[in-house]
Amino acid sequence: MLTEDDIQSYIRLCRFLGSYKDLVQGSGGNISVKSEDQICIKSSGRLLSETSRDNAYVVCDRNALQELYAKRLEDTRQTVLYGETKGTPSMEVFFHLLPSKWVVHLHPTWLLKYLCQEGWQSLTLDGNLSCTYVPYTTPGLPLADAIFASQPHSSLYFLQNHGLIVCADTIEDVLSLLDIVHNQCSKKTTKLAEYSTMYAFVQNASKLANTELILRPCSIVRELHDRLFLPITPDISLFLKHMPLAQESSCESLESHLITYWKQFETYPAVVKRLDRVYVLGKSITHCICIEDLLAQYLEITRTVDPNRLTMFSNEVLFALKTSEKEVQRLNIV
Ligand SMILES: [Zn+2]
Repeated sequence: MLTEDDIQSYIRLCRFLGSYKDLVQGSGGNISVKSEDQICIKSSGRLLSETSRDNAYVVCDRNALQELYAKRLEDTRQTVLYGETKGTPSMEVFFHLLPSKWVVHLHPTWLLKYLCQEGWQSLTLDGNLSCTYVPYTTPGLPLADAIFASQPHSSLYFLQNHGLIVCADTIEDVLSLLDIVHNQCSKKTTKLAEYSTMYAFVQNASKLANTELILRPCSIVRELHDRLFLPITPDISLFLKHMPLAQESSCESLESHLITYWKQFETYPAVVKRLDRVYVLGKSITHCICIEDLLAQYLEITRTVDPNRLTMFSNEVLFALKTSEKEVQRLNIV
């Protein structure tokens, strides 16, 4: 049976990977975790990033799914044991019957650049990783057939004109496999463990904040050199907080920056910059969107107005804002 821990980890992983627009777009991609007799998978048509305790996933009877697959029957609704009310398992559920505990299917933009061109099978990885190359097949039963017929025990499946499947028994292994493929596809000279590092970071920040936080890579803000956020409007002061947490070189530790930030401000940062990538950190997707919008607004104002002419709030005004009951309530809603 799937444990409470498995479900919690499943929700965390879906929210984490689902927030990267270069890994999943819209309702694409799906993740599953399984036990001997059960499998937890995304509900059809839902967004990975909106996964929560009672939303966007279903837990199915693994043996019943295996039987349906053997009989070539695609109506999987009857296998649902619990989860989202009226949820249907993702149409890709059959290849999630692959043996490893975690099966993660994504549509990474950086990988599709290779998979959508001639010579797609020439993308090779260093080391002894087991990779399988699957020529394009219609998603659903035909794709599951192609995968099982090619090699049911691979760690990585490269799907031509479609995406990637990562198989592993722990989340840490899923993320380090993803890092290996990402670094292989990246043209950058500094190879960073993007997914493993940022997953650990958001877990640590969530522990400090005592709430499950979401980290979203910023799509609208590409460059950030600001050390402080000037308090120029109520929303900018409240949502962007004091300053971004910034890691400027690959030898610095994001974790030690986080602890310093927490000690100084007794809160987690809303904006995180790691080398040339900017992220926002919030309590929900809505909260992250608010931060991202305000960051874009802040940069537009401070880039176009003469800094000597900017009018800012005094500490007294700031204090009044932060302690205003109405403002605190509004912040707690998002
Ligand atoms: Zn897909």
